[in-house]
Amino acid sequence: MKKNIFLPKPLFLIIVTLFFSCESDETTVDNPEEVIKEQIVPESIITKLKQAGFNTNHEILPYENGYIVEKDIFLTEKQIDILANEPEEKQYHTTELVDVPHLYTRTIKVYFAPDFNQDMQNAFEDALTRFNNLNLNLIFERTEDENNNDIKITGANMGTIFGISGYPENGDPYQRIKLNTKYYTDYNTFDNATTVIAHEIGHAIGFRHTDFKNTSYSCGGDPYDEGRGLEGGIHIDGTPTGGDSESWMLTCLDFNHDRPFTNNDITALTTLYPRSELNAITGEYRAEPGSVIQVKFKGTLGAWCSTREKLTVTIYGANLSDPTRSITWTSWASDSFSFVMPASGVVHVKARMNVLVSNHTGCSLGSVKFNNTNEIQLGTGGFGKTSFPF
Ligand SMILES: [Zn+2]
Repeated sequence: MKKNIFLPKPLFLIIVTLFFSCESDETTVDNPEEVIKEQIVPESIITKLKQAGFNTNHEILPYENGYIVEKDIFLTEKQIDILANEPEEKQYHTTELVDVPHLYTRTIKVYFAPDFNQDMQNAFEDALTRFNNLNLNLIFERTEDENNNDIKITGANMGTIFGISGYPENGDPYQRIKLNTKYYTDYNTFDNATTVIAHEIGHAIGFRHTDFKNTSYSCGGDPYDEGRGLEGGIHIDGTPTGGDSESWMLTCLDFNHDRPFTNNDITALTTLYPRSELNAITGEYRAEPGSVIQVKFKGTLGAWCSTREKLTVTIYGANLSDPTRSITWTSWASDSFSFVMPASGVVHVKARMNVLVSNHTGCSLGSVKFNNTNEIQLGTGGFGKTSFPF
């Protein structure tokens, strides 16, 4: 089904050229290698990239208002500054992730250019399915709308790299992923296409390269000298700090090697983007039958509020003598109670903030937590919403 027309050398990709400018103004430069090499990367940028834990052994390419590092990651200077000042821990993801407001799920609309061939369209659908099969709180959905989307994947002729992506900014995914039309055309579509698409989406939602500490792990070549202050990023609980030879986020990939998510990848993804047990649309809360669920709720008066507010929480379907609890506050108040999950494993939750004095409903912050997670925020913290389910 997929065609393997050629296997270029080297087998592992090395980024050497880049010759497209952005979107509306695509230009092809005759000798891109020369053009790029004339642009000197300031030593200060290299130092910051090292501080941020990027492998600077790979060529750093000036691009638009930033740089491409580790072959396929685009970073603005501002992002480099932020990453360079992150706490020095182990690795795997950036501090900036995709926000999922209102705790339940966020639909990420992904556009995939229709001019990619059918094999690529299938690879794209498969990549989204891989994420969606994990029941993350991010739900990836294809959109045909070129102008209104969260991630837009288009083609560009880009020398010898598979694609380019970037990291989330302001709580949104990185929006502009480019795939190399030199490799993904009617004439060659490689079996790595699904992995490459999932990999670039991985960056777009905040994942770093699994082997960034030593990219020779996947890229070959000389091992990276770790004695140069190479740390950065945040390690994800439950994943190894050593290598994972089949991770979808390794720096380099063969042309015809597919890498579905490994168990470690799945741990990383479900840790960063866990689907809540609480459904913000229906109010259903699901947990193991018989388990004890602690409900903590509190209210905090906003600095500009001059009113008393009341937070009421009701649990339907649990065997509670008093299913409705409430607190009022003039500055701050909290309370908690527990219930046992019924045999069905489902209860329904309602929460509401009322105003007691004036019309400043939602001025304060009301919060309800189930077993210290699954937080419902109402009022100011809930973007002005005063009742749950939303
Ligand atoms: Zn990458």
